[in-house]
Amino acid sequence: MPRTFKLPHFYHSPVISVVKHARRETDVRKRDLSPTLLDFGPVRFKIARHFGFCYGVENAIEIAYQALAENPDKRIFLLSEIIHNPRVNENLKHRGVRFLMDTAGTPLLPFDILMPDDVVIVPAFGTTVEVEQALKARGVTLTAYNTTCPFVEKVWRRSEEIGKQDYTVVIHGKRYHEETRATFSHAQADAPVVVVRDLSEAQALAEVISGEEDAAFFFEKFADRFSPGFDPTVHLKRIGVVNQTTMLATETQAIADLLREAIRTRYGDAEDAEIGAHFADTKDTLCYATKENQDATLALIADGGDIAVVVGGYNSSNTSHLVELCQQRLPTYFIRDADELLSPKEIRHLALETKQVKTTKDWLFPKSSQRNSGQQSAVGSQKDSSRQSAVGSRKPEKKPTTTLASLPKAESEASAERPDSLFAITPKAESRKPKATPTDIVLTAGASCPDVLLDEVLQKIVGWFPNTRSVEEVLEGYQR
Ligand code: SF4
Repeated sequence: MPRTFKLPHFYHSPVISVVKHARRETDVRKRDLSPTLLDFGPVRFKIARHFGFCYGVENAIEIAYQALAENPDKRIFLLSEIIHNPRVNENLKHRGVRFLMDTAGTPLLPFDILMPDDVVIVPAFGTTVEVEQALKARGVTLTAYNTTCPFVEKVWRRSEEIGKQDYTVVIHGKRYHEETRATFSHAQADAPVVVVRDLSEAQALAEVISGEEDAAFFFEKFADRFSPGFDPTVHLKRIGVVNQTTMLATETQAIADLLREAIRTRYGDAEDAEIGAHFADTKDTLCYATKENQDATLALIADGGDIAVVVGGYNSSNTSHLVELCQQRLPTYFIRDADELLSPKEIRHLALETKQVKTTKDWLFPKSSQRNSGQQSAVGSQKDSSRQSAVGSRKPEKKPTTTLASLPKAESEASAERPDSLFAITPKAESRKPKATPTDIVLTAGASCPDVLLDEVLQKIVGWFPNTRSVEEVLEGYQR
C-alpha cells in the first residue's frame, strides 16, 4: 500500500484528483500507460496516466506545513524553494516562512541572523555539506524538518559506495541545479566528481576517456564541473554514472552506454567481464517518478492531439523534460498556471530553446479550413514558425486512448462496480456532442505541480468553447 501524505486541502482538485484516483483503482500495478480522455464535447483533454506530485514532493510539502503547525511561536526558514512551483512557495511565504537563498544558492538573508531555536527546513533537493556545516556552526539542527527526498539520498549513498571503491562519480545533471550542487558536494567527500549536462558533453568526456583528447581539452571543456584536484589522466580510469533524478531517463542511459564504450575502447576492447573493473553498474539511481512521468508522456503524445499544454514552474527541471518530449510531436505550450492563458487567441509561455517567456497568437483555435485538414495544418495556423516545422516533421502514431470500456477488469471490487461512463465518450455523450471535429488538448504536468493548477487550466479552456458538457457530466461515474 503506497504511503499517503496529508496535504493542505487547497492543493486538491475537483477534477484531476478524481481522475487520478479512478485510474489508480483500476490499474493498481501501474501497467496501463494509456492517457485518460475527458470529453467536454467541442474540446477534449487527453490526460497523462502519471504526472504531478511525486512521493518526494508530497513528503516535502507535508513536512513544511507540519513545521508551521508545530512551531507557531518560532521563526521558520526555508533554505531555498521547497520545490520548483511558484504557487507552493508563495503560499509558504504568505504563512511567514522566510527563504534564506534563491535557487542558484545566492543568499537572500545572511546565515548569521539564525539562532539555535529557529526552524530551518531543507528542501526536497537536499543541500550541500558546506551549508549543513554553516548551519551547524550557528547551532541550528536540520534533522526535524529535513525534506530531502529519499530518492535523492539514494543517489548520494550510491555515489559514496562507488567512491569508496575508487570509482570517479560522473553526474548527469545541471551543474547549478540545487540537487546537482548537493549531490556534487556529498559525492566529492568520497570521490573525484565531474558533471555532464547532456549527450554532447558526455561525448567530449568519452573522447578524453578513450584517449582521443587530452587533459587540456578536459580542463577547457569542463572548466567549472569537476571537483578540486581532479586529474583526467588518473581519475577517468574507473567511473560510475549517477544522475540528477529529474533528467531524461533515456539520456542518462545513453550517456552511461557511451562512456562504457569509451572505456571498452580505452582498454583494448575489453571483454564484458573486465569492464566492471573500470565501470560501476549504477542503473538503480533513476527515480521512479521521473521514469513513470516520462513513460506516460511518451504514451500520451503517441496518442496524438492538436496541441500539448504542460503545466509547471519555469525553473522545474522535470517539467522541462516533459516539454522536450511533447514538442517533438506537438505544438507545445509550457505554462506556469492558468494566468498564462491570456485568451483563446493569446498564450504566454516559456520557450525552452531561448529560456524566454513569450506570447504566441492563435494557439487554440486554428482557422477552420486548416482545422479540418488535421493536426499538421492546425499547427500551420500558428505564428510560431519553429513549432510548425517541429510538428510538421513527425506525425503521431495513433494508439487507443483509455476509456472505461477498454480498461482491464478492475483490480479492486470497488472499481468493478463502476458505470461505463468513467473515461469514455459514451453513446449518450456522442449524441450531444457537436459534429465538428473536437479540439484535442494533451495535458500534463511536472512532479512539482499541484493538481489544482491543471484543473484551473482545464476549466479556463473549457470556458472558451460553446455548448460544452458540464464538469459533473464528464466526471459522472468517477465520483464515489
Ligand atoms: S522527482 Fe523523484 S527524486 Fe525528485 S522529489 Fe520526486 S520522487 Fe524525489
